[in-house]
Amino acid sequence: MDIHLPMSKIKLLNPEFPNKSTGIINGQSSGLLNWNDIAYPQIYDLYQTLLSNFWKAQEINMQDDIKQWDLLSSTEQDVFLRINTQLASLDSLQTPTMCQVMDYVTDSSFKAIFAVIAQQEAVHNESYSYILSSLVPLSEQNDRFNQAKSDPIVQKRNQLILDSYERFRENPTPQNVFQLGVNSINLEGIYFYAGFAFFYHLARQQKMLKTSTMISYIQRDEMQHAYFMAQFLRILLTEHPELNTDANIDYVYKTVGQAVQLEKEWAHVILKDIEGINLNEYEEYTEYLANKRLRQLGLPNLFSERINPMPWIHVFSDEMINETKSDFFEQKARTYAKVTQSNGFDEL
Ligand code: ZN
Ligand code: ZN
Repeated sequence: MDIHLPMSKIKLLNPEFPNKSTGIINGQSSGLLNWNDIAYPQIYDLYQTLLSNFWKAQEINMQDDIKQWDLLSSTEQDVFLRINTQLASLDSLQTPTMCQVMDYVTDSSFKAIFAVIAQQEAVHNESYSYILSSLVPLSEQNDRFNQAKSDPIVQKRNQLILDSYERFRENPTPQNVFQLGVNSINLEGIYFYAGFAFFYHLARQQKMLKTSTMISYIQRDEMQHAYFMAQFLRILLTEHPELNTDANIDYVYKTVGQAVQLEKEWAHVILKDIEGINLNEYEEYTEYLANKRLRQLGLPNLFSERINPMPWIHVFSDEMINETKSDFFEQKARTYAKVTQSNGFDEL
């Protein structure tokens, strides 16, 4: 396979080919999906996990947060709105990108996963809008979205991701789908976390708990998306050793390293006036996340080995990734509102 040759959009139905695809890209596949006859049976477990996490924004009653909103400091309100719209901006890119990748993936079971991920991104996007509509008028929402679009640090941070997504749109080669996957892991597995940290920090002080509940649902989804994308890339490199080059492995390290740098910069800007979040600790946390993403790709750590320096951010551990116990999660979510800073928030 020439990794620099654009993949063609596959026909919907190819009756002459088997249902079980011969490859995740450039494979032969009828286009019909029988979950009992798929090339990578573990994908079905992941599909089940994604579905068992199903949630929607309206299930969460925002009344408590609406009452608390006016009690937040003006700095807290400002950071809250900035982070909310910036995270919404990231999710806005993710929905169409996942749909687009789906067009070039030849394994129907993987297509189904991309479809579910795209749906979840749409829910995330809506949940940020739902939070905003509970708290501020449309004119302020519009100002905040415009701010997110024109903020130079946000632009710089997103450019790396955007470049790779646009490159794939222009030229859907195997090489470009590989690079898109790496950047998608950065977006879902690193870029969201300074924002998450802020909301969980408020929650530690019993503030805006409904928002934090929603954020924890988003985090749970994102962890699985990043995990899936890592699996997708590992299979891609295994099926196509011509992609598994030193240059591409260097690309992974370089790109993850840049994402860590940009996330640290953003955290310093966005969280600088928030008392109680130690930015040095947060820097270590981004390195810890980067190492985790690399290990999911089957690669050695980029940064020196460290334990999670901010366990309170990680409300739900990555070990939950392959669990399908949604009732376990809901139980946690229900107790979420009851814990205080002193009685074991860190245990969640
Ligand atoms: Zn999302
Ligand atoms: Zn996602």
